[in-house]
Amino acid sequence: MIKLKKLLPMIVVATMVGGVMAGCSNSGGNTTGDNTDTKKSEATEESKSENNSNILIGSAIYKFDDTFMTGVRTAMEKQSDAEGVKIELVDSQNKQPTQNEQVDTFITKGVNALAINAVDRTAAGPIIEKAKAKDLPIVFLNREPEESDMQSYDKVWYVGAKAEQSGTQSGEIIVDYFKANPEADKNGDGVIQYVMLQGEPGHQDATLRTEYSIKAIEDSGFKAEKLAADTAMWDKAKATDLMKAFITGQGLDKIEAVLCNNDDMALGAIEALKAEGYNKGDASKYIPVVGVDATAPALQAMKDGSLLGTVLNDAENQGKATVNVAIAAAQGKEINKDTVGYEVTDGKYIWIDYVKITQDNYQDYLK
Ligand code: BGC
Repeated sequence: MIKLKKLLPMIVVATMVGGVMAGCSNSGGNTTGDNTDTKKSEATEESKSENNSNILIGSAIYKFDDTFMTGVRTAMEKQSDAEGVKIELVDSQNKQPTQNEQVDTFITKGVNALAINAVDRTAAGPIIEKAKAKDLPIVFLNREPEESDMQSYDKVWYVGAKAEQSGTQSGEIIVDYFKANPEADKNGDGVIQYVMLQGEPGHQDATLRTEYSIKAIEDSGFKAEKLAADTAMWDKAKATDLMKAFITGQGLDKIEAVLCNNDDMALGAIEALKAEGYNKGDASKYIPVVGVDATAPALQAMKDGSLLGTVLNDAENQGKATVNVAIAAAQGKEINKDTVGYEVTDGKYIWIDYVKITQDNYQDYLK
């Protein structure tokens, strides 16, 4: 009772103040836009979090056992938590039929948006058809569907990075090394003899990184000669075997540079070099190796000097952008910079920039 008595006057005062304030904003009519706007945005915030907690994103990742995609997955989970949405991530185990079934299951479950890292990017069409039949928004990531598939539905988006850019940057890292270390041209013929370890055939990042890294070398005035190139499927262990085969086939003395479409393969190639006593600290036994991704182990390898350089493939922002697009689309919003926090190109593409990582800046990215 005592408590209530004490509280009563406070409640009365509060009610009066509230009434006066409400009166103010009412009497102000149009000129009190500020006040009204504040109320509106509060209401929007509230309904946003209410809406968000009802949102379920269904996401299929081509395979969980991929270092880079593990980083993207972690970022997607983190962003979903931050935005208060639910996300279900499933492992497509590198099998497109499995992924197609997973998409069916998501649709039956009633997810509000799909986020798909296709196993086979050329197989996006049938997945888009499934989404379209239910008017369900769908965001692809990391493996870019073909243009015709992207245009086949107004609720499909792609979050990724421009593969050309990463190729160019990794080529430039090699160029800078050869400019600073002319003796890296071991046979002094003015040509960079290289081997290339490629990602999965058909993946835009494998094709374009291969092409643009060499283009950057040649554009800078150097000549490049391919000694050998093959796929190691983005995989570290496969890359060690492939590099061993290159070493046996070519002879270590002939190889002047090792270009790899990703860091896992660069680290695998380094294992093979280390087995020959190379890239372990002896300056006379060193072959420059470049990768792409800037994974934690790659940055460590830059620290210990076995890896020359890499290119940041920004898993954090790719994961975040994917979730933001999925949420905004699930809420029926238009997809633009205001609604997703990232620039949107041609209404459909969210491009996250690559960053060149060298001895000058790798420490900024070490976690
Ligand atoms: C990454 C690779 C990864 C691949 C998966 C690429 O962008 O650089 O490390 O294995 O995506 O699709």
